[in-house]
Amino acid sequence: MRIDGKCHCGNIAFTLDWPDAQPEIPARACGCSFCVKHGGVWTSNPNAGLSVIVRDPALVSPYAFGTQTATFHVCARCGAVPFVTSEIDNHRYAVVNVNALEGVDPSRLLRGSGDFDGEETSSRLARRARNWIADVRVGEIAV
Ligand SMILES: [Zn+2]
Repeated sequence: MRIDGKCHCGNIAFTLDWPDAQPEIPARACGCSFCVKHGGVWTSNPNAGLSVIVRDPALVSPYAFGTQTATFHVCARCGAVPFVTSEIDNHRYAVVNVNALEGVDPSRLLRGSGDFDGEETSSRLARRARNWIADVRVGEIAV
């Protein structure tokens, strides 16, 4: 099923192609220092597809910290963080912020939490390659 989402101002919009076989959407409140400050709650499915459209790339502020293996795509205009990417073996994986989803019945969100502080970088990347969205496209629209 198709789920739309965007940052607050709409500069970063996406379509999540979610597998029909999984009606529930995991929503993981991340315990990392960035997500605690932003209230980041993420979802992914290895069989999902993500298509991101950026209206003004100059208004996207990429942010990485710690192991520098994940990039938070922060909208520089409204401050929302709709998605995160990680490049693993020349493949781009992503997770999506459930707070940026639109039109999703909250009862479908399976709330949980995760704290991966202290995880070895190699196992961190292997976990992402297993669980994150593997079909990710990021494009710009001409304005
Ligand atoms: Zn925005």
